[in-house]
Amino acid sequence: MVADHVTQSTNGDDETQLDMLSSTRVVIKNALERLGYPNEVYELLKDSLRMLTVRIPVRMDDGSIKVFTGYRAQHNDAVGPTKGGVRFHPNVTEDEVNALAIWMSLKAGIMDLPYGGGKGGIICDPREMSFRELEGLSRGYVRAISQFVGPTKDIPAPDIFTNSQIMAWMMDEYSRIDEYNSPGFITGKPIVLGGSHGRETATAKGVTICIKEAANKRGIDLEDARVIVQGFGNAGSFLAKFLHDAGAKVIGISDAYGALHDPDGLDIDYLLDRRDSFGTITKLFNNTITNQELLEQDCDILVPAAVQNQITKENAHNIKASIVVEAANGPTTPEGTKILTERDILLVPDVMASSGGVTVSYFEWVQNNQGYYWPEEEIDEKLTKAMIKSFNTIYNTARTRQIDMRLAAYMVGVRKMAEASRFRGWV
Ligand code: NAD
Repeated sequence: MVADHVTQSTNGDDETQLDMLSSTRVVIKNALERLGYPNEVYELLKDSLRMLTVRIPVRMDDGSIKVFTGYRAQHNDAVGPTKGGVRFHPNVTEDEVNALAIWMSLKAGIMDLPYGGGKGGIICDPREMSFRELEGLSRGYVRAISQFVGPTKDIPAPDIFTNSQIMAWMMDEYSRIDEYNSPGFITGKPIVLGGSHGRETATAKGVTICIKEAANKRGIDLEDARVIVQGFGNAGSFLAKFLHDAGAKVIGISDAYGALHDPDGLDIDYLLDRRDSFGTITKLFNNTITNQELLEQDCDILVPAAVQNQITKENAHNIKASIVVEAANGPTTPEGTKILTERDILLVPDVMASSGGVTVSYFEWVQNNQGYYWPEEEIDEKLTKAMIKSFNTIYNTARTRQIDMRLAAYMVGVRKMAEASRFRGWV
């Protein structure tokens, strides 16, 4: 048992936040034990193989120099190069980056991609930085990690508060350092720089496919379904649009500042048009409710698509949805998962639901490597096939073994890297 690893973290602004790294380790250990692996495999996989901390000096617009702290974690590269996004956020911590790198390994395993997991983060608030300062920070980060990453070593991508422009600056900086054009260094680039069709919407599309599969299992017709989406950034806003276009009634959305709720359905096209590049929309309205109130509203499908630790032991009893699909990384704590499962709410875990992004990132990297680009329909078709296959593998594993879908997803996700690590003679 490693339950005593589940401690309270004092990181971030929520003192009751659960330690994501510890709770991930609990599930990994359980998954490996059920698969019959000895403890040494857990000892290898419970942490990233490599964790780099960097200090990035940036000249700010007022002439002063500000030094930012950044991280890059490479969890396990037994299967192939590591891969994962870079997050710009004031609450980034080393433990968070470590946990997110482990999740990327699990996602790669679930989607059968030839990668291990990686992740990066910089402690900063891009909402308070100018375009020029953000460019300096992005380029400085690449200079700091350049010897550690690369198209065959570790491939970054966007995450919270980073976008295709930031990927473009990072790719340009890496190409200058390497003295050749290196589009395969990073994914999530603009199309003209070797980005892939469908990358921007890939996470949302993958979540939509999982929602359709889950609704099907629960006998819910998506056309009549009432959906709430927490978060209106890259993942949440496209997701709201796809669900709206599929005929679902999106009755609630939110951002970092509050939530909008209308039981008759929100005008998603209008909201998409008005949101800013950080996914902020509620500041334009007076009649908002809080994020916590939104999560507890009556609906059929609830999609946390913002930040971690949103469904906890405090509110899991009040969730009224019959399906919860985690588009965000880590939105439900272990106690929250337990309560939702006991209440027979179908919980589709993050490592499955949000793996569309890394899957199309993989397609982008393959296209960069071969220098031949696929049309959007081909990407869509490949993504849909892969998501449906993985969803059903995990759903059936959960049913056969009488376990929740999170543990089933970890069992599926951890197997390939455990096997690869053994074949290499690491454990
Ligand atoms: P984003 O930065 O584009 O948007 C984040 C959204 O969440 C914004 O609307 C923001 O206002 C809102 N938000 C921020 N803090 C909040 C808070 N405390 N409460 C409620 N809302 C808050 O980020 P994104 O790319 O959409 O990512 C959202 C989640 O999805 C993250 O957990 C991320 O790790 C996960 N994810 C994203 C991708 C991707 O490709 N974008 C892939 C996999 C997982």
